[in-house]
Amino acid sequence: MTCRTTTPPPEHVDAVVVGSGFGGSVTAYRLAEAGLSVVLLERGRPYPPGSFARTPAELGRAFWDPAAGLYGLFDVRSFRRFDSVVASGLGGGSLVYANVLLRKDEHWFVDEQPLPSGGYESWPVSRADLDPHYDAVERMLGATPYPLDRPPYTRTPKTHAMREAAGMLGLDFQLPPLAVSFAPEPGADPEPGLPISGPAYGNLHGTGRRTCRLCGECNLGCNDGAKNSLDHTYLSAARHHGADLRAHHEVRAIRPLSGGGYAVDYLRHAPNHADRRDGHRGPPATRTIGCDRLVLAAGTYGTSALLLRSRRFLPGLSPALGTRFSTNGDLLAILVRAGRDGRPRPLEPSRGPVITAAIRLPDALDTALDTPGETGRGGYLEDGGYPGFVDWLAEGAHLPQQLSRGMRFALGRILANAARAPETHLSRAVSELVGQGLLSSTSFPLLGMGRDTPNGVLRLRDGRLDADWSPAASAAYFDRLRDTMRQVADVLEARHIDNPLWYRKRVVSVHPVGGAPMAHHAADGVCDPYGEVHGHPGLYVADGAALPGPVGTNPSLTIAALADRMCTHLLEHRSATPAGRSAHLPPTATTYRESTSLTFTERMRGSYQPGARHPGAASATEEYASPAQRISARLTVTIVDVDDFLDEPGHRAGIDGWIDAPSLGGRRPILRGTRHMFSPNDGPEGRALTYRLHFTDAENRPRALTGRKELTGETPLSLWPETTVLPFRLFDGHVRGPGEQSATVVGAGRLSIPLTEFLRQLTTFRTTGPRDAAALDRFGRFILGRLWHLYAPRTPWRGRKRT
Ligand SMILES: Cc1cc2nc3c(=O)[nH]c(=O)nc-3n(C[C@H](O)[C@H](O)[C@H](O)COP(=O)(O)OP(=O)(O)OC[C@H]3O[C@@H](n4cnc5c(N)ncnc54)[C@H](O)[C@@H]3O)c2cc1C
Ligand code: SF4
Repeated sequence: MTCRTTTPPPEHVDAVVVGSGFGGSVTAYRLAEAGLSVVLLERGRPYPPGSFARTPAELGRAFWDPAAGLYGLFDVRSFRRFDSVVASGLGGGSLVYANVLLRKDEHWFVDEQPLPSGGYESWPVSRADLDPHYDAVERMLGATPYPLDRPPYTRTPKTHAMREAAGMLGLDFQLPPLAVSFAPEPGADPEPGLPISGPAYGNLHGTGRRTCRLCGECNLGCNDGAKNSLDHTYLSAARHHGADLRAHHEVRAIRPLSGGGYAVDYLRHAPNHADRRDGHRGPPATRTIGCDRLVLAAGTYGTSALLLRSRRFLPGLSPALGTRFSTNGDLLAILVRAGRDGRPRPLEPSRGPVITAAIRLPDALDTALDTPGETGRGGYLEDGGYPGFVDWLAEGAHLPQQLSRGMRFALGRILANAARAPETHLSRAVSELVGQGLLSSTSFPLLGMGRDTPNGVLRLRDGRLDADWSPAASAAYFDRLRDTMRQVADVLEARHIDNPLWYRKRVVSVHPVGGAPMAHHAADGVCDPYGEVHGHPGLYVADGAALPGPVGTNPSLTIAALADRMCTHLLEHRSATPAGRSAHLPPTATTYRESTSLTFTERMRGSYQPGARHPGAASATEEYASPAQRISARLTVTIVDVDDFLDEPGHRAGIDGWIDAPSLGGRRPILRGTRHMFSPNDGPEGRALTYRLHFTDAENRPRALTGRKELTGETPLSLWPETTVLPFRLFDGHVRGPGEQSATVVGAGRLSIPLTEFLRQLTTFRTTGPRDAAALDRFGRFILGRLWHLYAPRTPWRGRKRT
């Protein structure tokens, strides 16, 4: 059932953006700059320089859980097989991130790459598509590598250690671009602690900023304002262009409006009651704002949860909602007590920004390029840093040494007192008591990330978001990453210690992506390659949720670049605005509509001959096949949007289900299936029904069953056999289209729909959506119309009906 809001909300703007992280900030700026009225709703608070928590009392409250009265920066989540940290505040993840802006490797934008756990990873955009947008984001965020070659930056031992390790291991090393101001203005010499001259668009906080003073506190928020976080850049520029940025506004639901556009229901939090303008003291009331365009950028968890919760209002949403979740292969290790020639080697993790260096782990996809023989899914290793006070905690945690030093000091003082020694100079004794800090200065965290398997699923359980993802499907990737971490430790003569959670095979992800993945078709993804949600024009996903797989490196830059590309496309096509909504936008060319989906299930049986190259004389009925050659299939055909299906010439539907054959190892689930009906691509007048089913056999070999029902229309009597018998070939690999020409055929056969199954199929038609009866009617007319055109008896007055 669809619920549409008929009463227009009291407030209506061109665009509402939900969330102010990388996707939301870029979008708010681009749309406001283009003259649209933009309201950005962010659940967290603003953090001007100097306001980030540092004391234990402040840090104890720096977490996000409004139900517990916490409105702080860190949103920490624990799922069954992993934990995760994301941010809540004006500027989203940029407030706590480690500033690394790396582009996704060109060859990691894969197209239908089979996954170790089955299924595919497919990116509907390429590096070339994103490069201009990467450029734009890097410029705005002032991306610059760590100035290691200049004093005082050159004295950053962890960076040199990373470079040395990469050199010894023959791995690529780089100083990645960082969104940090090392110099007071572009082109000036870097120097710590100088006032930064602000950009022309001003700064929304209205407070001064200073250049990076290498304190290692980036993950707690930069109290100097040296990080070029989104509040200092995109959001300040958005506000300059008129965007209305509303902190403490949490969106709870979204609904389509009957006249076009969307209604957005939100709460206004008031952590500090004195802040509340309306003087209200009870739980916050829900309010609603309307918009022509709604951009969801509440982060991977926030956006996926909003879509899942609002699903009943958005019937056209793809069945792929919640899928393609990935932790971006995050893994943390600690290298302890590094040495050189048997002596302690200082690494000083609390000096410098949190991350300064990156080592690249090659990928099998590089093989065709310049890294012959590499296998596996690639990734990156980066140095980790932390604030100086963590050094104290690390030293304090080393209890035996602390105790022995304390006892030595106490004993010394007791003996000195007993002997009434004249010595009053205690510096040496106190220095020994403090110790040399060897443990903390010779150790550092090593951060790993890469192309794990994006097979996780986000769903709602008892109204709360749950994530079903486990490292098991990515075991080979994680083993390889850990091996490389160990090799780095060996080179640095350090001990490699796994993150303690790894002993329970858990990871902590700070880079979660997926849940509302982009894909060309609604059967495969929630939004299109420009972020617009399939079946819901004017609704967009602009954050990490839209990623169809891991970035492999730190994801922010890719999220921001995709949002920038989305905005360019949206602005270029802005004439499609729903009618009568905007003062800024011309009237609509396209009117808003909700989609209606249709499914039906067909069962087929037949015979399959391994080794045969053509269906030839294979029996179309199971009865005449030997038991070893029998094959059956149960295929559920899904048309996500009947109108789109009928309008698009390809007439494409998705297929789920299974194939069952002894010679293939029994029942095999279909990993990806498509069906085209009467597509002109399949011959003149679209006289064919084609099937392509991808699955793996019992030995996990990828297989593609492709079949084609030729509709000759010779006589009315040929209608039944031509529409119910499917001759097919089985290929090695998940081949598609032209790939079949050169692919190896491993067998062939025929499947057919027996009459009883056909009658049963007629009872399986289901529609979901606002115009279900009409959609079924249109679909039926389309199929019957085509068949009538092809098979109706020829009459003198109708003449020849085909060429
Ligand atoms: C400690 C740490 C270090 C990191 N370091 C790096 C790094 O160096 N480089 C890198 O590329 N990435 C890094 N990341 C990851 C990076 O921060 C994220 O990938 C990125 O922020 C995701 O961007 P986004 O737009 O998807 O969402 P986010 O940046 O997470 O923004 C989502 C925003 O939406 C808000 N929100 C959520 N729900 C609602 C709602 N219902 N209503 C209103 N607002 C809502 C949230 O409060 C948040 O501000 C790091 C992350 C962490 C935690
Ligand atoms: S190292 Fe310190 S000053 Fe530099 S960006 Fe990080 S938090 Fe800011």
